[in-house]
Amino acid sequence: MIREIITYPDKRLKMRSIEVSEFNNELHFLLNDMLDTMIDKNGIGLASIQIGIPKRVFIINVPVETNKKNSDGDIETEYLIENLIEFINPVILETHGKTTYEEGCLSVPKFYETIERFNIIKVQYFNRFGEKIIKEFDGLKAIAFQHEFDHLEGKLFIEKLSYLKRKKFDREIRNRKVEQS
Ligand SMILES: [Zn+2]
Repeated sequence: MIREIITYPDKRLKMRSIEVSEFNNELHFLLNDMLDTMIDKNGIGLASIQIGIPKRVFIINVPVETNKKNSDGDIETEYLIENLIEFINPVILETHGKTTYEEGCLSVPKFYETIERFNIIKVQYFNRFGEKIIKEFDGLKAIAFQHEFDHLEGKLFIEKLSYLKRKKFDREIRNRKVEQS
């Protein structure tokens, strides 16, 4: 079932999410709804709090490149459901290097900005059946993990912006409100 995504400045996005203690049907329904919602919005990651549920749960599905090119000559990408990873009670064990990427967020629609993240991370998490997994991620998966992990701590990527870029964001949000009213 597709759920409604809460957006900035909704105060719930500032909540610290709570650990999952039971790996039951309720958790599985939540994960299934999160996937439906993320696919509907073409997202590559979604945290539980983004649909208003403060649990330490997020999902990531990074699209892969195909052999096909679109009309602009760019390589097309597609989502493969087997690339979906469900993270429950995740912990970051190690970090290495730095990288930057132009990030966006389904809870901060139509705003993109370059953010610095760790390049490689070693993490521990549980899958939907309560099995503990330890794994290393790099590239876009590592970036998406850190973005989603911040949601569990009540943080948004706009909080990582420099003073000037944050001013630009605040101005854009104000202008949007004027347009809507
Ligand atoms: Zn986000």
